[in-house]
Amino acid sequence: TVVGVPRETSEGERRVALVPKVVERLRARNLSVVVEPGAGAGALIPDTAYVHSGATLGDPWSADVVVKVAPPSPPEIARLRRGALFVGFLTPLTDPGKARALADAGVTGFAMEAIPRISRAQSMDALSSQATVSGYRAAMVAAELLTRFFPMLTTAAGTVPPAKVLVLGVGVAGLQALATARRLGARTTGYDVRPEVADQVRSVGAQWLDLGVDGIEAAGSGGYARALTDAERAEQQRQLGKAITGFDAVITTALVPGRRAPTLVTADAVRGMRAGSVVVDLAGEAGGNCELSEPGKVVVAESVTISAPLNLPATMPEHASELYARNVQAVLELLTDPAGALAVDFGDEIVAGACVTGKES
Ligand code: NAD
Repeated sequence: TVVGVPRETSEGERRVALVPKVVERLRARNLSVVVEPGAGAGALIPDTAYVHSGATLGDPWSADVVVKVAPPSPPEIARLRRGALFVGFLTPLTDPGKARALADAGVTGFAMEAIPRISRAQSMDALSSQATVSGYRAAMVAAELLTRFFPMLTTAAGTVPPAKVLVLGVGVAGLQALATARRLGARTTGYDVRPEVADQVRSVGAQWLDLGVDGIEAAGSGGYARALTDAERAEQQRQLGKAITGFDAVITTALVPGRRAPTLVTADAVRGMRAGSVVVDLAGEAGGNCELSEPGKVVVAESVTISAPLNLPATMPEHASELYARNVQAVLELLTDPAGALAVDFGDEIVAGACVTGKES
């Protein structure tokens, strides 16, 4: 089986789907890898490193399995071979047109987002590996934009209190943001609508923001949150608006699969924050968690800086690619046998969950 690795073409994308270390492992499993020249450039991986690991340089689009990070563009879909497999992010819930276009092209598409979150699939969980990068980076962005210290300082010139950092939405990214902010010396607090998250928040040395008996609980299925009702949303915004005022930095990561991101921080809540405070909104791709966020931009409103960066994993392309490549490796191992032949079992829960084009295609 030949695996193709194209150069990513979407704007700002610096990641690559396979790194040389993983190419070596795939070669050991009798898979051939064809890498498009320059595919690793964004992640600072030269073509020669791929060649040393056993890949060949060439046209990746005629491969049996094409592996990518960003969803394929229409011209890229046109280059895929009928009968080929595609593995990558495919935004099946927010843009089902991609999966349809692949199916129409006779390609079987496996969406990284759709891999079920069961223990056997943990090594394939690219949402988690990339959210880890985003969460870490979000804490760094908050520290960078805040005009005050994160850590407590005791100096001859006086004592500086630690910054107070609140993370709203504590999934994988939120937990990493809490851990990172704490390593930088901030006093950290976390909040989520899934009550089971409280223990995880405490495990990274943060406080749990307890909104009391009126706190809204909204655990959904598969470890995700459900969307709130209008009344719940209004009540949550009111409660958070009061809670937010004491924090120097608020990092938001709240997402509900397939939906617009919920608004957690209203314009009023921003007005209640101290001048110089910061909001880092990780939900920009899904419309943002802060009413004043402009996805992809940094804006200042009421002397509060609001940043809604897009595609943070691409800002750390080496490690993000390395982690992603491990996820792709695990998927490829699921789709092939040890002799390197395609062996796709559509009866397998992970295969069936990840396949977004229907097995007939
Ligand atoms: P996500 O990116 O979908 O959402 C981020 C967080 O936002 C979630 O914790 C969610 O509860 C929260 N949220 C949604 N709406 C909210 C609202 N209105 N107010 C406050 N918070 C809100 O989540 P994720 O990071 O992908 O992870 C979700 C969970 O799945 C985590 O607990 C994680 O540990 C679990 N998980 C399990 C596995 C596995 O078992 N294999 C793998 C990965 C993640």
